Amino acid sequence: MLQYPDAKAVVRALEPDEPVTLLRPHAASRAARFFTQKFPGKAMYAVKANPSPDLIRILWDAGVTHYDVASIAEVRMVRDTLPEATLCFMHPVKTKRAVREAYFEHGVKTYSLDTLDELAKIVEATTDESGKAASDLNLLVRLRVSSEHSELSLAAKFGVDLVDAAPLLQATRQHCDALGICFHVGSQAMTPFAYVQALERVRAAIVEAAVTVDIIDVGGGFPSIYPDLDPPALEDYFQLIHQHFEALPISYSAELWAEPGRALCAEYSSIIVKVEKRRGDELYINDGAYGALFDAAHVAWRFPVAALEDDLRNPLAEFSFYGPTCDDADFMKGPFMLPEDIQAGDYIEIGMLGAYGAAMKTSFNGFGASEAVQVADEPMHSLYRGDRPDPRSSDNVVSLR
Ligand SMILES: *Cc1c(COP(=O)(O)O)cnc(C)c1O
Repeated sequence: MLQYPDAKAVVRALEPDEPVTLLRPHAASRAARFFTQKFPGKAMYAVKANPSPDLIRILWDAGVTHYDVASIAEVRMVRDTLPEATLCFMHPVKTKRAVREAYFEHGVKTYSLDTLDELAKIVEATTDESGKAASDLNLLVRLRVSSEHSELSLAAKFGVDLVDAAPLLQATRQHCDALGICFHVGSQAMTPFAYVQALERVRAAIVEAAVTVDIIDVGGGFPSIYPDLDPPALEDYFQLIHQHFEALPISYSAELWAEPGRALCAEYSSIIVKVEKRRGDELYINDGAYGALFDAAHVAWRFPVAALEDDLRNPLAEFSFYGPTCDDADFMKGPFMLPEDIQAGDYIEIGMLGAYGAAMKTSFNGFGASEAVQVADEPMHSLYRGDRPDPRSSDNVVSLR
């Protein structure tokens, strides 16, 4: 892969007509080392945030041994990429065939579930031809928790309600080697108290069910950093999670797990886009809602931007973007702050796209091709560089919308 010092060098060398993805392996590696060294338990990577095999190898080399996968295609891809990794199939609704292949062909022992039907499905799919049930399963019951502190909710679709959790935990206990409880507080959780609240619900479920619990999995939701979304230090999350985990009524050897997606890969990539047309404060660029900017369009996420021309003058002004497809929905409201005299032909870097950027790209309308190159400079923001001002001392603006 071609390597450049930074985005401006890429523009000078390539003058690209298509978007270019800029990869920063050093940033992903640094995030992974932070989690493997500081999270007080096991941090597995949630593959859906960015399923690039290159990234997965970078995380493995930095010490991430466990991977949260959600589909049989993810199981196969991670197994092909990392033959020795431990895979955990954490989608609470799977097909029987997927579980059977995962268990018997790829050695996957860990599954999540949120209904008795799913439990029966997993038990049946992991029973061998002689009728012998699996004795080595780790089964995690997904508990529904609040997403009120997160920018993207994951509270509606999955998770058993607390009132129904006890019979499911008791039934699951009968079929597993290790019993766990997992949850997801929603993506980009802007305060560690989201996890504290969820762990209180876990406590209530354990007390009610009176079962021995071996694994507590606090899921994903660990934040990255974006305009207007400057979270507290991740150490604060880890410390509060550890403290509340330790206080749970669980077996003394119980394990703490987490499933960070965004926090491990957001800093891994950015893109260079070209302005094709300007209409007032709207810039028509060559990537958008059906490309790497899905979240910018569909949930009005504000990614950081920087103009890559040297001859533009400040001050900055507010712009919105149209993507390249012939669809009104290919619109990103922003506002994105760029020099007020930016015009057609100029290039922009859009940062912090390693999570849920590349992963969402389509080729709708013939767009979506992009070259990837490696750059050596820093991502536009970092949670891991150690030079952030203490966000607790500033106003912590929590809401986007
Ligand atoms: C999406 C997802 C994650 C990762 O969430 P982030 O907010 O990116 O950290 C982890 N676990 C499960 C089950 C998920 O669906």
